[in-house]
Amino acid sequence: MPRISYCPRCATELVMRHDGGRDRQACPDGECGFVFFGDFSIGCAGVVLREDGGVTRALLIQRGQPPYAGTWQLPGGYAEHDELLTTAVEREVREEAAVEARFRDVVGFRHMIVGPSTNIYVVCRLDYVDGEPASDGDETAAAGFYSFDEMESMQGVQGISRWGIRHALESHPGSGLSVDDNGSDNRWQMFGLTDVDPRHWRG
Ligand SMILES: [Zn+2]
Repeated sequence: MPRISYCPRCATELVMRHDGGRDRQACPDGECGFVFFGDFSIGCAGVVLREDGGVTRALLIQRGQPPYAGTWQLPGGYAEHDELLTTAVEREVREEAAVEARFRDVVGFRHMIVGPSTNIYVVCRLDYVDGEPASDGDETAAAGFYSFDEMESMQGVQGISRWGIRHALESHPGSGLSVDDNGSDNRWQMFGLTDVDPRHWRG
């Protein structure tokens, strides 16, 4: 469990208190009531596929900065605390690769405990809209659409990126966790499986 010294709400020194089945750092100020449950983060990545001449390629970016500078991965990043996942992944694809794409569904996610933090990394499928891939010249060194064959000769394509692309290639668009329009607004969304009639996706 990570440790912090002072209450982030009222700056009082924290004490240990039994809460929810284990000892946790908590604010002794009764009116404040802050309890430290740990660090949580949500990451997202976008699988954007484009077909050209019978070959399906996936959008990848090359990292321009450490850690792992020079390696290739799906465009993505952290969702802000006040940002919906679908907005975050579309923004990251736009910022990192200059490609406009729309969220379609979630094809998988990874839950990882990393030292003092716990992270959920959601791999989303997006529909390509427009734009030619270009690096942002800062976080990304290059961007482009690549087939699995082409990835073989590229250095350091991230394993979870390949995993996400494969899941997207081997499932029907919309067959993953999709946003349920019923009741979603700009503060919350529900993601669920939808039965997909093959006649729809086969077009
Ligand atoms: Zn406090």
